Amino acid sequence: MPVTAATDYEIVIGLEVHAQLLTRSKMFCSCGSDYASASPNDYVCPICLGMPGVLPSINRQAVEATIMTALALNCQISRTAKFDRKNYSYPDLMKGYQISQYDQPFSHDGWLEIQVDNRTKRIGITRAHLEEDTAKLAHCKDGFSEPYSLLDVNRAGIPLLEIVSEPDMRSAEEARCYLTKLQQILRYLDASKANMEEGNMRCEPNVSVRRQGATELGTKVELKNINSFRSVYDAIQFEVSRQISLLESGQRVEQETRGWRQDSGQTVSQRSKELAHDYRYFPEPDLPVLEVDDAWVESIRSRMPELPDARLTRLKQRYLLSDYDAHLLVETRPRAEFFEAMMALAPEDKIHQRAKIAANWILSDFAGLLNATGLDIDEARVTPEYLTGLIDLIESGAISGKIAKTVFQEMFDSGKSAKQVVEERGLTQITSPDKIAEVVSDVLTASPKAAADYRNGKQDALNFLIAQAMRETKGRANPSLVKDHLLRILRENNES
Ligand code: ADP
Ligand code: ZN
Ligand code: MG
Repeated sequence: MPVTAATDYEIVIGLEVHAQLLTRSKMFCSCGSDYASASPNDYVCPICLGMPGVLPSINRQAVEATIMTALALNCQISRTAKFDRKNYSYPDLMKGYQISQYDQPFSHDGWLEIQVDNRTKRIGITRAHLEEDTAKLAHCKDGFSEPYSLLDVNRAGIPLLEIVSEPDMRSAEEARCYLTKLQQILRYLDASKANMEEGNMRCEPNVSVRRQGATELGTKVELKNINSFRSVYDAIQFEVSRQISLLESGQRVEQETRGWRQDSGQTVSQRSKELAHDYRYFPEPDLPVLEVDDAWVESIRSRMPELPDARLTRLKQRYLLSDYDAHLLVETRPRAEFFEAMMALAPEDKIHQRAKIAANWILSDFAGLLNATGLDIDEARVTPEYLTGLIDLIESGAISGKIAKTVFQEMFDSGKSAKQVVEERGLTQITSPDKIAEVVSDVLTASPKAAADYRNGKQDALNFLIAQAMRETKGRANPSLVKDHLLRILRENNES
């Protein structure tokens, strides 16, 4: 029986992440890049088809997105960068090689901060370089003919940013946090859609374990075929226990590539180190070496939007938001921008109060409807002006907080302003003393028993009567005016 526990081991993880860059055209040709809803092989030309004799040219937008992301990841930007050919034989390569970067990538030596267990941890970034995506193969077995494979070249030549981390993560949870943060930054920069399920962000975790206190790293295993955050976490957890069991039973961990099998929840061997590729890299002779000067880097830096961490700090200071609310608000850039557009409309003397109210609406009712409809906040028909208009109506007492929820739902569905919904549906709050008196009198007539109960000391009966008044008026009566009036009547009756 093994006497050591899992806690006797330290987990070591480094991530290789690929993200497709959001450019208009492909990396080395002028084919469009928005192939997501296209038919197979719609986006092809002699260059991305790898025909002989054609010449690639460098996509400037992709280079700038790479440099901007590298700056956001606190990387050193190389003054000279070059492209290299990476050779391997697999039929998803149109040219027989992939244009990538080998020894002179655009950037190196950066870091990214993650928040785990209420502390901040810095994860080193080894490098961020630019390459091209490959074509997509579909292996088919129809049971009638021999198995065959279909090739879709739409994806071949899409700019692909590769971000390699240092082996600095110590748990599956840290890996998940790192990936989440990276995704958030890529999206803030509009560099990538960074969606794992859609395949425009992919992650290959490298995992090893070693005895606590050991100075040498253990043998690493690279995990492939992962296409969700959940699977990154699960695959690492599985791999860690597999490696610990091996070591505990006196065996060695083989250095290899293993594929994640979603259905069985296991990793299986794909390729051992002995069969590892020799890519025979050499400089791409058809492309120039790029000189990246300070002026270019500074112009890219000046176009960089505020990053999530900076925004978080600023929102907390400026609006006195809780840490929790602020984190959720900056989670996506459109959400943070929606909130700030609302703050720009709020009166300065009520800014903190308004911030809290706006945050509540955005993070609860609004988030709920967006979730249910699968929309992003910037796709919704409710604008910052309209939501501010709704809050104004509540604050002025024109509508109750309860009715506001109904109004909001209709604003969301119809794209109308709060004022328009309230006017059309006659939802304004009832505050006139005469009207309140009338409602209260009706309720007392209809529920004499509750009135008697209250006079006999049953406090609950008062709430029942208020609820009746609200029901009568479909929620339009001002509840505190109803309560005041009810109390007055009930006491008067008592005294007479
Ligand atoms: P390769 O050449 O096999 O791709 P690299 O040295 O370039 O290997 O590292 C690839 C990734 O693996 C990096 O993210 C790195 O941090 C990580 N890594 C390297 N060694 C280990 C290890 N012993 N355990 C876990 N991850 C590691
Ligand atoms: Zn093309
Ligand atoms: Mg690798």
